[in-house]
Amino acid sequence: MHQKSLVELSVGLQKGAFSSEERTRACLDRVSRLDGQLNCFISVTGELALDAARAADARIRAGNAGPLTGIPFAHKDIFCTRGVKTSCGSKMLDNFIAPYDATVTRKLLDAGAVMIGKTNMDEFAMGSSNETSFYGPVKNPWNQAMVPGGSSGGSAAAVAARLVPVSTGTDTGGSIRQPAALCGITGIKPTYGCVSRYGMIAFASSLDQGGPFARTAEDVAVMLGAMAGFDERDSTSVERPDDDYTVGLDKPLQGLRIGLPKEYFGEGLDAGVGTVVEAALEEFKKLGATVKEISLPNTHLSVPGYYVVAPAECSSNLSRFDGVRFGYRAENPKDLEDLYTRSRGEGFGAEVKRRILIGTYALSAGYYDAYYLKAQQVRRLIREDFMQAFEDVDVIMGPTAPTVAFELGAKADDPVSMYLSDIYTIAVNLAGLPAMSIPAGFADNLPVGLHVIGNYFKEGRLLNAGHQYQQVTDWHTRIPEGFE
Ligand code: GLN
Repeated sequence: MHQKSLVELSVGLQKGAFSSEERTRACLDRVSRLDGQLNCFISVTGELALDAARAADARIRAGNAGPLTGIPFAHKDIFCTRGVKTSCGSKMLDNFIAPYDATVTRKLLDAGAVMIGKTNMDEFAMGSSNETSFYGPVKNPWNQAMVPGGSSGGSAAAVAARLVPVSTGTDTGGSIRQPAALCGITGIKPTYGCVSRYGMIAFASSLDQGGPFARTAEDVAVMLGAMAGFDERDSTSVERPDDDYTVGLDKPLQGLRIGLPKEYFGEGLDAGVGTVVEAALEEFKKLGATVKEISLPNTHLSVPGYYVVAPAECSSNLSRFDGVRFGYRAENPKDLEDLYTRSRGEGFGAEVKRRILIGTYALSAGYYDAYYLKAQQVRRLIREDFMQAFEDVDVIMGPTAPTVAFELGAKADDPVSMYLSDIYTIAVNLAGLPAMSIPAGFADNLPVGLHVIGNYFKEGRLLNAGHQYQQVTDWHTRIPEGFE
């Protein structure tokens, strides 16, 4: 039963083949039996989940259920949840009970989805391995010596291990797509402005987007439909008609024009990953797509540009954590200065401090033009590369990450090598485009993700490509040993 997709569960619930309460109990049971090995959850909200499940069952009986009513999900601990601890993976917020719901939380609860708990993540979403979490690392279900990717590692590993059918994540530079790839599941980062950031704890506001994880593109489409939509509480939310992401899934791919950026297949790409991606492209050709080489000449500027913009914005966003208004407060401060200094010194971990220092430096008077302004110019060049490419192709494909999952601790002392694991995902955030990762095979017995990038608001086209590929391949059905 835990192997069923969201869509299959939804059909069973509507038919009365099982109840949401039964499914929720089974999920909670699986989490309590198996999560000790993985550390996917920071909080498990069993009582709340059972109440929500009973309410969902009543709604199903009353005949006003939607596709998510009664479906258990895991929620990244970056989304505020009223009355439930919202830690963002940090000691700073270890004692923070959110007084309100994020818009995404509210939308999922209104749809009748059942929150099982809040998932582990890199501290304030800064990381690519889940190792910066105050709550300890998450283990990759495919090999527990390996990282699950980050920062949404708990949400990705929970779906891969079949603890939940679907979960939420956020992606500032790759944090949905990279863990989806490393855990062998499907995940999408929508166009910037598509999913409300209200109540989603800010890391780098001009890059952050929420999105879903699931095993299949079809499930991701259903989840995204519930999460997306205009929100007047988020000034960067885009006002446009709501999309039904499931309508175009069945469209044949005949004539789809795929671009392969030559910059994504060069140095740094693991050979095993490259082979898997090439095989996936052959499948797309069989489905009627055409493939051509393209160029995104400013790709090499994306990681350096990101590591100015993201720290600059985070240094500003995280200034609110001062020991006065939120979360952790140092004991017995001598004076106000000491309260600020020690609360921040003791409450934040090393990676967060590194980013605040870099960002504060980059924004300081005298350096602003050399760094932040320059990075914004680089950002424009990166966007123009994509716009040029989309004149000739419908989607861009390549590897999601340059390697498969790496060993826990392998990059912990080398931030630059860690930063390079997002080399293919980061440009997409700088441009604000939608992109997804779909399971495409294995290298060294670990999953490989295929990265599919689309033009603005073309999520439907990405999901269609993913769904059609999943009709002729079975990578998304593979289950890690020990979690069958
Ligand atoms: N790994 C990148 C970083 O550490 C991206 C993280 C994210 O997308 N939240 O900044």
